Amino acid sequence: MINKEMIESLKLGFSLVNELELLYLELETEGYESKKTKQFIDRAKKLLLKKKKAAVKTLHDAYTTCHDCGAEFGVYSVGCSSTWTGKCNVCGQEKRVTESRDYGYFVSGIARISRTLKLWNDK
Ligand SMILES: [Zn+2]
Repeated sequence: MINKEMIESLKLGFSLVNELELLYLELETEGYESKKTKQFIDRAKKLLLKKKKAAVKTLHDAYTTCHDCGAEFGVYSVGCSSTWTGKCNVCGQEKRVTESRDYGYFVSGIARISRTLKLWNDK
């Protein structure tokens, strides 16, 4: 399950690791690089990519969405929606939900997450 805070923390994680990499490059230039530091950076990258992929997959697979998640990760693209009380497949909460189709299947949100977090040979 995902929410706005998770996306924000992912972005923060990516920028922190980028800074660490720059620092590491400086250390390397001066001959102070360490294997442990490199391992730490690689592990952090792997973890962040895994979380990012999970977030994208959640949006991709979601059949239902509450209107908060819909507005956050998609674009409302129909005149009106049938709404019922059920589980939102994005945030996992029991709420008034509709089909993710009504929010363009989150295409815009998926593109945004992929774009802002696109780094490190992310395949
Ligand atoms: Zn939701």
